[in-house]
Amino acid sequence: MKTVIIGSGMSGLTAGAYLARAGHSVTVFEQFPTPGGVTATISKDGFAWDIGPLIMEGFAPGDKARVILEELGVSDQVKVVHEDRELAMPEFTLRKPKEYEGPYWRRERLKKLFPAESNQLDIYYRFYDRMLALMALARQAETARGLAALWLKLRMLMSFQPVKGMVNWNGGQLMDHYFQSTVLKTVFLGIVADFVTAPSEFPALGVPAIHLETAFDKRIPTYPGTRSAQAAYCYILGGCQTLVDAVKGVILEKGGKVIVNTAIKKIVVENGRVKGVELADGRFEAADQVLASGGMSEVFFDLVGKENLPAELISQIESIRLMESVHMVQLGIDFDPTPYQPSALCYYYYTYDLELAVKRLRSGDYHEGKEGLLIYVPSLHSPSMAPSGHYAVTIYTVAPDTLAVGSWSSRREELSDKLVAVAERHIPGLRQHTKTRLILTPEDFRLRTHLKHHSFGGVPPVMGNKPPSHKTPIQGLWFVGAQSESGGGVVNVMTGAQKTARQILQGQ
Ligand SMILES: Cc1cc2nc3c(=O)[nH]c(=O)nc-3n(C[C@H](O)[C@H](O)[C@H](O)COP(=O)(O)OP(=O)(O)OC[C@H]3O[C@@H](n4cnc5c(N)ncnc54)[C@H](O)[C@@H]3O)c2cc1C
Repeated sequence: MKTVIIGSGMSGLTAGAYLARAGHSVTVFEQFPTPGGVTATISKDGFAWDIGPLIMEGFAPGDKARVILEELGVSDQVKVVHEDRELAMPEFTLRKPKEYEGPYWRRERLKKLFPAESNQLDIYYRFYDRMLALMALARQAETARGLAALWLKLRMLMSFQPVKGMVNWNGGQLMDHYFQSTVLKTVFLGIVADFVTAPSEFPALGVPAIHLETAFDKRIPTYPGTRSAQAAYCYILGGCQTLVDAVKGVILEKGGKVIVNTAIKKIVVENGRVKGVELADGRFEAADQVLASGGMSEVFFDLVGKENLPAELISQIESIRLMESVHMVQLGIDFDPTPYQPSALCYYYYTYDLELAVKRLRSGDYHEGKEGLLIYVPSLHSPSMAPSGHYAVTIYTVAPDTLAVGSWSSRREELSDKLVAVAERHIPGLRQHTKTRLILTPEDFRLRTHLKHHSFGGVPPVMGNKPPSHKTPIQGLWFVGAQSESGGGVVNVMTGAQKTARQILQGQ
């Protein structure tokens, strides 16, 4: 079997590694000069920063991405540290206590901050526990067979009854149901704005899953090894390029190729079957299977062509909303930021009107850091990412792919200066102590990902958004990655690629 893979992000590499191990002749084509897509570590003047995934689910022992690395035989090459992050609002910071106070310390802290909502907090956390129990059952059901699977389904059905009435609610309704304070609502729901999804667009029952207590205290029991559905969050030691190198290594070791600087400009289809791909220089590469990652509109409309697609797929793709991009400033500094931000990662929120924030972002109106940002210091967990006594710092926000006023190239420095100025409210002295600086705007991300509209996390979790399946209507053509049914996030794109490779190997 000759397999061509378009794109060397974690989806393309993972699928390629499985297929190469199974004996396929695999060639991965990557248009950018380096492999990895957004899973990349970049460096300058002795500092290194990740440009994409920061803190990740799925890499703890027994978890999905870890199992994939074990199956590929490279688990020992990808070392991680289990960590947590902080959340800061203008009024307070939710920082974990030095001594562990159990899984509900945030609930108790919030009760002190919002005494009028004390009962409601208890009620919300009961809902949270119920949803987590349901998720834990669903997780067990994924691998259960026979009677055990039936029993789990029955238990899920019973646990679902009390929340069934909320199934068509949106996140905003859920928060209004539990809380009065807009600040409290933002604590639990703020992350949806990072997904460029308004509370009114996000499914209510998904709220607990995007705001897990374990994100804020790594001492809370997590699911590998327990029945809990609370994920463990990890950083990849030495930066996320380590992951790319390990999985790419499997393809090379099995005789496959990863060819960079080579864009695919056409997927050749004849009589509903894929025949191969045409490279940017006009050469043709024949293939039995083509696995494409990247943008759904770029893959299906530009590479395949609407004339080869059924009408339903065309309208499905045309109706899907995408996320926006990110504006990122990487700094190398010569002082220890931990007195101001003890954790490697903190999300700072400054707005409580999430509906408006998302609307403005989509219209190209960039908030310049005024509505929130995050600060990440990767050299805290991986000292090799900065020279001794120095620290690598990443500051970023979600940002419009295209600005309504001016362009990213003309406003690059101005907007980055403004972002660092906002970050200085939390870590004073950043500008004065900057030894080096590297900026990434949506234009840079577009170049790196070959997307016409850079969508940093793929398809947003907007109700009704249904991204295309891995299996396409064209025989031999498969679609993987953040804009496919797997959705974005490293563990999701890896799991989707694993599933696709299995389907191909089983001849489905
Ligand atoms: C700033 C940022 C922060 C993130 N934070 C997290 C996080 O904390 N945790 C987490 O789990 N996830 C995070 N993500 C999301 C996660 O990184 C992505 O969802 C995932 O890595 C996407 O992998 P992919 O293979 O689908 O796409 P990509 O990594 O974009 O790779 C696709 C590749 O295909 C190539 N390509 C496309 N078209 C062509 C063509 N025609 N010819 C040749 N090559 C082509 C592109 O150049 C690109 O290299 C973050 C992403 C970003 C950008």
